[in-house]
Amino acid sequence: MSIAVESPGLSETQRQIVELARDFARTKIAPLAAEWDRTKRFPRDVIAELGKLGFLGMCTPEEWDGMGVDGVTYLLALEEIAAADAAISVSMSIQNAIPTTMLVKHGTPVQKQRWLKPLARGELLVGFALSEPEAGSDPASMQAQAVRDGSGGGWVLNGLKAWATNGGTADLMMIMVRTDAPGSRRGAKGISTFIVPTDTPGYRAGKPEDKMGLRASNTATVALEDLHLAPEQLLGDEGMGFVYAMEGLDAGRLGIAIQAVGIARRALELSIAYCAERRQFDRPLHDFQAVQFKLADMATRIEAARALAHSAAARKDRGEYVAPYASMAKLFASETAMWVTTQAVQLFGGYGYMRDFPVEKLFRDAKVTELYEGTSEVQRLVIARGLSGR
Ligand SMILES: Cc1cc2nc3c(=O)[nH]c(=O)nc-3n(C[C@H](O)[C@H](O)[C@H](O)COP(=O)(O)OP(=O)(O)OC[C@H]3O[C@@H](n4cnc5c(N)ncnc54)[C@H](O)[C@@H]3O)c2cc1C
Repeated sequence: MSIAVESPGLSETQRQIVELARDFARTKIAPLAAEWDRTKRFPRDVIAELGKLGFLGMCTPEEWDGMGVDGVTYLLALEEIAAADAAISVSMSIQNAIPTTMLVKHGTPVQKQRWLKPLARGELLVGFALSEPEAGSDPASMQAQAVRDGSGGGWVLNGLKAWATNGGTADLMMIMVRTDAPGSRRGAKGISTFIVPTDTPGYRAGKPEDKMGLRASNTATVALEDLHLAPEQLLGDEGMGFVYAMEGLDAGRLGIAIQAVGIARRALELSIAYCAERRQFDRPLHDFQAVQFKLADMATRIEAARALAHSAAARKDRGEYVAPYASMAKLFASETAMWVTTQAVQLFGGYGYMRDFPVEKLFRDAKVTELYEGTSEVQRLVIARGLSGR
């Protein structure tokens, strides 16, 4: 029995992609992940290599230089990267999901040519900025503002965005700001999305946040200071930015769900190996039924979490309404990752609490999956709304 996804049941394409991702993860990511975590180094070169292999544009249609694979195949590859280092997988997830979904669905042919193609090839790194210091779970209450610049119909942006992944390392950011007038707020309908190259004057990323986990991933506050944009940097229709962000988050949450599966799977693999080796009371830990039951419960929850994520991805590929299912997958998988990594630390005993052993990093990395792209409470709100048909 295998905890990782194995060949039977996979198509030939999926098998090749999983093997490529697993090989890359095991040789180029896993050996260095602990050091990147310790030194907070964002390995841009490794992300670029992922791009060259096609892993940053997996669901982007081939006509825009992507791989054009289905959602489940993308999740299979992402799980392999997440099992090696969650900090790398979050960049892969964002690049494949939120900004790309927005551009594929709402970009003009010119915007796709200019931005989508290099994103799919991994030549540009992207992030998205929805949250603000005072607007996290309720992003529709954001305050950052764009106003018409009065000359050629362009825009001037001002405000502060919080915790943007890749905020200090991306080449391009998709930024959600208000375009309704301060005197006549329209809630979610007053928000628009802009495509912002990070070398635009007025874009200023703060110092990288000092985080509990995912320490190699860049997370930064972004200040928008009289940032001038041309009319063609507006994505889609004015006032539709919030809707576009929520569409993107459906895809994003599936990525975070499988990131959580990858973290949990690694914790289980390490736990199985440790329990076979570590001896107490004159026998290996795995001889104790209490330990066997713990491992069995860990494996069962991981299998269920992966199945939920794959099922939601298949629904999305069929064009079904997927928001509550993406939230179920993220909710269940992130709580699974937190629970499984807690059990892993317990099984490792005192060693599990030490930096020299890998499960404490997995425990720290797991926590954020319950927080970002909507907390577990927000996922429950989305599911409950789906149940009541709202
Ligand atoms: C490492 C990291 C990377 C991130 N990357 C990005 C990014 O790339 N782009 C981006 O835009 N954002 C990003 N975020 C922000 C993230 O999405 C927010 O932190 C998250 O949405 C929660 O918002 P908040 O932190 O303001 O918490 P709050 O909204 O203040 O919530 C605090 C607590 O209250 C609970 N709560 C709030 N409202 C309700 C309610 N109605 N019912 C019940 N409970 C509720 C929450 O669940 C939470 O437990 C990132 C965050 C982190 C930590």
